[in-house]
Amino acid sequence: MARYTGPSCRLCRREGTKLFLKGVRCNADKCAMTRRAYSPGQHGNTRKKLSNYGLQLREKQKVKRMYGVLEKQFRRYFSIASRAKGVTGELLLQQLERRLDNVVFRCGFAVSLTQARQIVRHAMIYVNNKRVNIPSYCVDKEEIIVIKNKEKIKKYLKANIEMSKDRSIPDWLKVNTDKLEIMIQRLPERNDIVIPIKEQLIVELYSK
Ligand code: SF4
Repeated sequence: MARYTGPSCRLCRREGTKLFLKGVRCNADKCAMTRRAYSPGQHGNTRKKLSNYGLQLREKQKVKRMYGVLEKQFRRYFSIASRAKGVTGELLLQQLERRLDNVVFRCGFAVSLTQARQIVRHAMIYVNNKRVNIPSYCVDKEEIIVIKNKEKIKKYLKANIEMSKDRSIPDWLKVNTDKLEIMIQRLPERNDIVIPIKEQLIVELYSK
């Protein structure tokens, strides 16, 4: 699946908020949102008042960028959420949270979402004893995720865990950092997602 490969800080500046796309490196003083908190590009130093449509569009772009998902895939998540029983906006966020790359990142096995994606792509991950190298793989209740049994990889992941130790792990995931094992205790709920997102705006945008 395609992914965005351009500069990460540009995306934060475009959305006018810190999206922490570089993971632990985002705390550095060099954060572009601290130094140049205006939109990128030639006319970037003016922030226009957004219309209702503009607000909806920006919220959608922000969430897509936070989870590293492109439009086609995001639409697919929305279509799954809108057909399922429940609150569409919450189900959409649940779909995104359940992505395997997101789970690896949230557990601190990777210092950024991009790195988590790479870990998955390099086939280091086993889900219920089966190798999975698809970052968009949707994890399910009671699944157990383990890391390939190689000392070099384990050392690398433990260094990541050490660097990410200040980040809290969501309650729906149970992590054993010694064994490098993740258990999906339950599916994520809305209050497990602490990032400020107005998902209703995305639902309104796609429901036009
Ligand atoms: Fe965004 Fe700042 Fe991280 Fe760059 S360093 S990705 S601007 S939060």
